[in-house]
Amino acid sequence: MTADFDTIVNLSKRRGFVFQSSEIYGGIRSAYDYGPLGAALLRNVKEAWWRSMVQQRGDVVGIDSAIIQARKVWQASGHEATFTDPLVECQNCHTRHRLDKLENPEQCPTCGKSGTFTEPKHFNLMFRTHTGPVESDDNMVYLRPETAQGIFINYENVRRTNRLQLPFGIAQVGKSFRNEITPGQFVFRTREFDQMEMEYFCRPEEAPKWFDYWRGERFNWYLDLGMKEENLRIRDHEQDELSHYSVQTVDIDYAFPWGWDELEGLANRTDYDLRAHSEASGQDLRYYDAVADERFFPYVIEPAAGATRATFAFLMDAYHSEEVAGDTRVVLKLDPRLAPYQVAVLPLSKKPELLGPATELADRLRKDFMLELDVTQSIGRRYRRQDEIGTPYAITYDFESLDDSAVTVRDRDTMAQDRVSLDRLTDYLSQRL
Ligand code: ATP
Repeated sequence: MTADFDTIVNLSKRRGFVFQSSEIYGGIRSAYDYGPLGAALLRNVKEAWWRSMVQQRGDVVGIDSAIIQARKVWQASGHEATFTDPLVECQNCHTRHRLDKLENPEQCPTCGKSGTFTEPKHFNLMFRTHTGPVESDDNMVYLRPETAQGIFINYENVRRTNRLQLPFGIAQVGKSFRNEITPGQFVFRTREFDQMEMEYFCRPEEAPKWFDYWRGERFNWYLDLGMKEENLRIRDHEQDELSHYSVQTVDIDYAFPWGWDELEGLANRTDYDLRAHSEASGQDLRYYDAVADERFFPYVIEPAAGATRATFAFLMDAYHSEEVAGDTRVVLKLDPRLAPYQVAVLPLSKKPELLGPATELADRLRKDFMLELDVTQSIGRRYRRQDEIGTPYAITYDFESLDDSAVTVRDRDTMAQDRVSLDRLTDYLSQRL
């Protein structure tokens, strides 16, 4: 059985994946804090992305740019003028909605009345603040609404210092901020979130080829990390849906409980951004091709994914419940690369003669694996607890271990148990994780 929305939200709170932010003060709407398990999962999602997009490729480098950038960046990129959503207010119940996300643009989803909306206003999604002690127009800045512009403004620095030749990519993972009109659906849409973006610079005539290439790569990334294919699809944007900078966009969608919704967007941003920053800054950001002796603006293919949103989707997708001997067993079948803990060490009893060596074993394995030492309650309950948070291997240290220097290793998915000698244990786990 797969999970419904409430089940995942409850599991997240109960087990410490995700908490309501500022909860002790009554909570702040649509802001979430990641607890120990959620932080580990989120971090693993970001690391898996970095590994496949940067580490394992010779043509992509990574950067980490500032969240607060010059206002001119957002004027040049077009965000100050056009990064808006159409906002309507219901004159009956005074709730505000994003017009383009309404199922029926005539009817208020809160009170059900029709024909009560105001004319749409274009609401800019960027958060504003000021640098320095005086608030004035001169020191007004935005928190970045995407990580991409940090890449474009560093394009020439990165290209030159790393001697990069087309085609090449620059990747970045980090926080973005959008003052969303209607955040919601747990961590799916929040005002502060993590993005994983890569700008792939290429010759203009090669852009369609690279677009197709990245569409395949990105779709396969989710599959490779265990997401079920039937829960994923690729959707082409209609012409009137395209962002101001894009000539072609597809979304990678996930089958969320409320229907298909976006996990990641893939856009052909053309030379829009480099050209705009060249014009606004006066710096020549064209690429010089020494062989052909020509200068031109590269085109850009951008896979833009949400890390927090993907984390939520991985959690939903991994949820599995089954009947085992008249009992319900809940398992998060997370890929071992994503699971918050890779290994649990469970001493059969809390008696010092077992707890001592089990703790030593845990300390030794911690050097190589993310691990939890779990000592309370019966062994069966502890197995279930580890299943529920997706720990791939649970190691039981029992009284026999004292004599045979071996432990029982239980596989989360098959529940099969192997007796493994302590001196082979690291190898055994490394081969499987
Ligand atoms: P939408 O139309 O749903 O508002 P978008 O198409 O503007 O989103 P992009 O600008 O393409 O989104 O952002 C790239 C990715 O960043 C999205 O696919 C999503 O995974 C993530 N993302 C965007 N906005 C949010 C948000 N408010 N909360 C969480 N993740 C987000």
